[in-house]
Amino acid sequence: LIAYLNGRFAPLAELSVPVLDRGFLFGDGVYEMIPVYDRRPFRLDEHLARLAASLAAVRIDNPHDEATWDTLVRTLIARQPFADQSIYLQVTRGAAYPRNHAIPADSTPTVLLFADPLNPPAAALVEQGVAAVSMQDPRWQRCDIKTTSLLGNVLARAASVDAGAVETVMFRDGLLTEGSASNIFTVKDGLLLTPAPSTRMLTGITYDVVLELARHHGVPLQIRPVSEAEVRAADELWLTSSSKEILAIVSLDGRPVGNGVPGPIYRRMYGHYQQFKAGEMRP
Ligand code: PMP
Repeated sequence: LIAYLNGRFAPLAELSVPVLDRGFLFGDGVYEMIPVYDRRPFRLDEHLARLAASLAAVRIDNPHDEATWDTLVRTLIARQPFADQSIYLQVTRGAAYPRNHAIPADSTPTVLLFADPLNPPAAALVEQGVAAVSMQDPRWQRCDIKTTSLLGNVLARAASVDAGAVETVMFRDGLLTEGSASNIFTVKDGLLLTPAPSTRMLTGITYDVVLELARHHGVPLQIRPVSEAEVRAADELWLTSSSKEILAIVSLDGRPVGNGVPGPIYRRMYGHYQQFKAGEMRP
């Protein structure tokens, strides 16, 4: 498994970073996860734009321009033995001594990329849907930044692991925010509903694709605050992410969502998404 660290490609197992790296000490870094289908990165420009936005938000100078990032990602893809990949890309603020919260004036960012085999949800999961639980959103006020400081997300996810469920849906001040590692959509009486991008959630690349597809295919859509009560009364509930694509949530906190099976709008959108992926991936 060939990875990339700070200018060189090498087997992942041979790479290491200094213990003083602020990514290790402070969670001081940002990341992206880019799905790759048949060696073609999906929505790479959008991922690189979000990376640039995350870096700017945490005041790390972007170590590469977009063309260099593009080349790096494509080189890594070419060097893997498998065609469907999940590219993990991380930039931290780098090492600094002594340990100090203050942002160092002169640290060099640590750039890491590696690939895993991509495993989109199996057909059975798409057919049957998944279980989710809910909790109050335990995270900070800048959930729009894709930072490696993920303890809130980790603890949120632990709640669904404990319950044998696949995702944890979070609420803040009575409103839906997102999942521990996904965005959430609801359907009520044929209307697709999802929160607008804000500092309370990460704007998913998949979220944007689903909105584009809804508009293109004429699925009635409202982007507005969604209350916890609306989530609990929804006919359909979906989660979206680069790795899980679109999955129907068929039970929430042990109670069925709608009829307890993936709904008609979900099936439609899942089809649109697969078609879109195939089209996007044509050379
Ligand atoms: N929200 C959070 C908190 C996430 O971690 C993710 C996935 N990384 C998403 C939303 C979905 O983003 P994307 O569609 O870009 O994978």
